[in-house]
Amino acid sequence: MALPLLINCGKVTSPLSYHFAYKFVVLPFISQTPPTTKMIDQQTIDRINDAARIEDVVSDYVTLRKRGVNMIGLCPFHSERTPSFTVSPAKGIFKCFGCGKGGNAVNFIMEYEQLSYTEALKLLAKKYGIDVVEKELSAEELAARNDRESMLLVNEFAQKYFTNTLYHHIDGKAIGLAYFRQRGFREDIIKKFQLGFNLDLRDAFTQAALKAGYKKEYLTKTGLTIELDDHRFSDRFRGRVIFPVHSLSGKVLAFGGRILKKNEKTAKYLNSPESDIYHKSNELYGIYFAKQSIVREDRCFLVEGYTDVISMHQNGIENVVASSGTSLTSGQIRLIHRFTENITIIYDGDTAGIKASIRGIDLLLEEGMNIKVLLLPDGEDPDSFAQKHNSVDFIDFVNKNAVDFIRFKTGLLLEDAGGDPVKRAGLINDIVQSIAKIPNPIIRSEYVKECSNLLNVQESMLYHEINKIKRNELNKKTVKEHTGEADGAPPVNVGEEPSIPDISKKVFDEEEQNILRVLIRYGTETLYYVDDTAPLSVGEFIIDELEKDRLQLNEELYRFIFDEYKLQSKSAGFNPERFFLHHTNSAVSRLTADLITDKYTLSKIHSKQKKLTSDIERLVDLVPRVIVEYKNSIIIEQIKQKLLELKKADEVKDGARIDEIMQDIGRLDSIKKLLSKTLGERIILKLT
Ligand code: ATP
Ligand code: MN
Repeated sequence: MALPLLINCGKVTSPLSYHFAYKFVVLPFISQTPPTTKMIDQQTIDRINDAARIEDVVSDYVTLRKRGVNMIGLCPFHSERTPSFTVSPAKGIFKCFGCGKGGNAVNFIMEYEQLSYTEALKLLAKKYGIDVVEKELSAEELAARNDRESMLLVNEFAQKYFTNTLYHHIDGKAIGLAYFRQRGFREDIIKKFQLGFNLDLRDAFTQAALKAGYKKEYLTKTGLTIELDDHRFSDRFRGRVIFPVHSLSGKVLAFGGRILKKNEKTAKYLNSPESDIYHKSNELYGIYFAKQSIVREDRCFLVEGYTDVISMHQNGIENVVASSGTSLTSGQIRLIHRFTENITIIYDGDTAGIKASIRGIDLLLEEGMNIKVLLLPDGEDPDSFAQKHNSVDFIDFVNKNAVDFIRFKTGLLLEDAGGDPVKRAGLINDIVQSIAKIPNPIIRSEYVKECSNLLNVQESMLYHEINKIKRNELNKKTVKEHTGEADGAPPVNVGEEPSIPDISKKVFDEEEQNILRVLIRYGTETLYYVDDTAPLSVGEFIIDELEKDRLQLNEELYRFIFDEYKLQSKSAGFNPERFFLHHTNSAVSRLTADLITDKYTLSKIHSKQKKLTSDIERLVDLVPRVIVEYKNSIIIEQIKQKLLELKKADEVKDGARIDEIMQDIGRLDSIKKLLSKTLGERIILKLT
């Protein structure tokens, strides 16, 4: 039996598939799954998922109370007094109705411990005593991995060696440890940051490492050892206190060493070189120790270097990282962005370095971060300031004195320009460049308002300049796209440009989510029987409906799930809810948890509907409805678009074009009527 309710004749459906040429932004979600994911085999992942009961995992961190079939507690991801954090043992998920976080047990560990998917799996495997069987790698992968692992092992050895020297060698104690103490570093902090010391000898460390069996190759690759022309060795760090640089997961990637003697000709700080395991521009000093606190406080402090991070920790402020001497890179910003959108940059009292670093900060704006700047009193740096003030005073000072970045930059440049009109023009241009980088148009307009006041220029003039910049960017981008260099930035709407509306990717969000919700919850249920015998499943129906009109879900993540569904639905015993809830891509599992949460059950999507008696009847009513609603919203959007085109054609008095558009609109309108009619009617299906 064919479904009578949906339009599937060629003529009517053609406009639907007509201009579906939306630009898709490459979302970061796919890269969120670390490349190492594949290394744990599926069987092991299944065993871990089976063992890790959600209530069991969560109650290691949260006190849960029973409420009905669920359990509730205080959310660990935001501060609250009344519990809105819910665990559903039956579904295997958690969901906070306060902050929106939700997912399966692995997601919980990822979020709480700030771990990657693989790391979270391993943690759970350990908890439940499951051996993690890692998949075999190709010879090449193995070699590369072995190289990196060997380098990490060398670094681990070096860190222990330096720490050991610090505590146990007579010079280590007398010179290194004495220095840290004199700087005011507490014992527990020296331990926590794994600080160390290397003696002022030519190659004592290298010899010790070789003797312990570490290969020369890795000693030089990590930069710990320098091989001289005459093949003799030299330790890179000599007579220096050592600061290990940790990765996000706590592995030692590199070292910084500070000289102790005054008036020495060599640089005060020496750092490990770039290597296969240390890409300076993607690492931040302190991130391993800061990540949980950054999430908790929803803010990250950015300081200059090692000692600033350490002193602030000692003072109880742990959400702090340093870019160690270099200006901030976009890789580092993304690292912070994984944990928060709010960043406060702390500058020393003497402003010399500030102007140089300000340009780099536009990068932060581009990434959509909210940036504040804190200027410390003259002569203070974060290190000295943290040593003098307790954390309450420190935070109090921050809250009173941190200034929004654009305001700060404007003030700074204004001061600089004085009455010089040429300088003032340059300054306006400079500020406008920064504002144009802000992706959110509402925030952008607030800055325009404010800067118009500060600079005493009209808002329209600032908008004019911003649009000019955006247009330039857009042109550059179009050229790039034509040459095949996509750059992932969302299309910008440039005010004065011809108004082809950019259909925001959120336009059909609700409708698309409803489709996935039905697909995941009920995809394998039988919707009805074709010719009294062959069952047609909900999933088959949905796939068919979308493909018939050549529709693709707009949002990349959704499309990904849809395609996965199509692939997986062919395999026997496919359970979509289970499959997607335990998907290796955490964006997928989180969304699934959301979609199967009770709050969103089908009956509530259409709560106004009168309750129908059986599940099957409900599906028969609701599944087509979800599809029709989706199609309806697309048609409405297309009509909107046509109306805008019409306006444009009207302005230039292009008669032929106007006729053409009118016809299109007429066609779309008749589809819309048909769809509305279907929507309004009780959908009648012949059931057997
Ligand atoms: P001092 O005791 O003279 O103040 P310091 O060790 O506190 O010396 P500063 O010159 O104050 O060092 O620099 C502040 C921070 O900047 C240091 O903690 C250090 O981490 C970082 N830093 C400075 N120079 C470098 C560099 N070349 N490489 C990496 N980090 C550096
Ligand atoms: Mn200092």
